[in-house]
Amino acid sequence: MSHRQDLHTHTTWDDGAASPLDMARAAVAAGLASLGFSVHSPLPWDNDWTIPEDRLGAYRAEIAAVREAFRGTLDVYGGIEWDSLSSLAPEGFDYVIGSVHTLAPGGEDASVDCSADITRTILRDRFGGDERAMARSYFAQYAALADDPRIDVVGHFDLLTKFSETAGLFDAHAHWLLDLAAEAMEPLISAGKIFEVNTGAMARGYRTEPYPSLPLLRRLHALGGRVTLCSDAHRPEHLTYAFPETGSWLRDIGFRELWSFDGSGFVPEPL
Ligand SMILES: [Zn+2]
Ligand SMILES: [Zn+2]
Repeated sequence: MSHRQDLHTHTTWDDGAASPLDMARAAVAAGLASLGFSVHSPLPWDNDWTIPEDRLGAYRAEIAAVREAFRGTLDVYGGIEWDSLSSLAPEGFDYVIGSVHTLAPGGEDASVDCSADITRTILRDRFGGDERAMARSYFAQYAALADDPRIDVVGHFDLLTKFSETAGLFDAHAHWLLDLAAEAMEPLISAGKIFEVNTGAMARGYRTEPYPSLPLLRRLHALGGRVTLCSDAHRPEHLTYAFPETGSWLRDIGFRELWSFDGSGFVPEPL
């Protein structure tokens, strides 16, 4: 596998543990040819994991400085992980990863990325315990990203199933869930979006497979979807986590290309 790029990473500018400089050093040590930073976009409620809007200018300036420092060694890109409920337009970044962390209309108590307890409480209080209703609402937010041409990549598409293995919430392999998810994939594929295969929850011990799950990746392949491979690293040691085995799973499913950002757009590389 020749994939030597990681486009989904976080730093101390949001909820990551290391500076962009330290992440770039680790990327070189890990053998990467290019590294993209994807800061969490600002949200219209108090939280401790996204960048405040008034710090975006300084973030861009620091990424530009790191890009200069590593010129010739590592290509450095300044992207954004844009949340579907963000208060900011997804503009002015090298590339945009579109993600859904929170059920509309939002708030920290509506996030499916925090804990099994919070996900369980949302399910009980807002959806009367009906997993299908909550999954429909969640995947509808993803499908809506198809209408925004500024979004390049679809982030961790089945994050809703984060606690499938550890707490039995939203079985990632349930046929009804795969059906709902695949239906939401279709407009995104038609709109030309690339799906990231995200190993972040594997690195952090929540899952033994990436987002999307392996059966969902089979559906994506059957629908003609395109993929890239990202770690969603929040610390240096998680860069490129499980890339070789995930690459071979993708090959087994039938994918023959990974899509890679070249500084102006996405281009295929053989898998
Ligand atoms: Zn995310
Ligand atoms: Zn992320």
